[in-house]
Amino acid sequence: MQPNQVTQADTQADTQAVVAVVAAWLTDATDVTVLTGAGISTESGIPDFRGPQGLWTRDPAAQRLSSLPDYVAEPQLRRRAWQSRRQHPAWSAEPNAGHQALVTLERSGRLRGLLTQNIDGLHQRAGSAPTTVIELHGTIWEVECLGCGDRQPMTTALARVDDGEDDPACLRCGGILKSATVSFGQPLDPDVIRAAERAARECDLFLAVGTSLTVFPAAALPRVAVGNGALLVIVNAEPTSYDGIANAVLREPIGGVLPRLVAGLR
Ligand code: NAD
Repeated sequence: MQPNQVTQADTQADTQAVVAVVAAWLTDATDVTVLTGAGISTESGIPDFRGPQGLWTRDPAAQRLSSLPDYVAEPQLRRRAWQSRRQHPAWSAEPNAGHQALVTLERSGRLRGLLTQNIDGLHQRAGSAPTTVIELHGTIWEVECLGCGDRQPMTTALARVDDGEDDPACLRCGGILKSATVSFGQPLDPDVIRAAERAARECDLFLAVGTSLTVFPAAALPRVAVGNGALLVIVNAEPTSYDGIANAVLREPIGGVLPRLVAGLR
């Protein structure tokens, strides 16, 4: 199979063949950039947004919790957001075999960058180097003041909610506090997006894992990589709009297939 052939793993036999080819590409690669999305953490018990069991698939109204204009305008929505944060599955989730496989890839010396849309911190918990992980959409483990930018641990803010403050304000300036994640209507950190684009430009293989590739600018990164000559491999249960330009597509559960892709790396 030539690197420029698009492959679709629709049957078990196809899957084995595509896994073997992609594993060989990874062995030959010197700089691999990985983009992960919510799908890599569903096997850790954190639901995605748009998959069949996704939070927004089941409750479209929940999207408003991720809208910055609504969050700023509606105290009622902020109170609901704090209750939702208290119960977030990230606090007790453990990394899974998919996260571990990316640690194996890193230890083989081939990982150029691990770009994640996730806010759950599970890559770092699995053992990925904090300097390798680029959190495109921030982290749920901290809160940020929308007024003065002060950052504090999420645990401190949640303790205040537990003590009866239903919408805790910034202790420095009295402004609105929010998890340090990027909501709709909120720009990404320009330094973060520049670093991610560079990692996409400078790789020879780009691996997109567990993302519907619908949230921009993250979803533009595979095209940046392909435009600079990289192979594109997509591992996602459902079709994405980038499957047509991918060199290989694996529609498989991530925790099963990623370990197989990296098993032979030394
Ligand atoms: P998405 O919800 O749009 O898409 C997830 C994709 O992963 C879906 O296409 C789904 O079919 C696939 N998928 C789910 N479980 C899978 C599995 N076990 N194996 C293979 N494929 C699987 O996610 P997105 O593209 O990351 O965009 C959602 C946004 O929501 C991101 O900005 C992200 O910040 C945020 N988010 C993050 C988390 C988290 O941190 N864990 C969870 C939910 C949402």
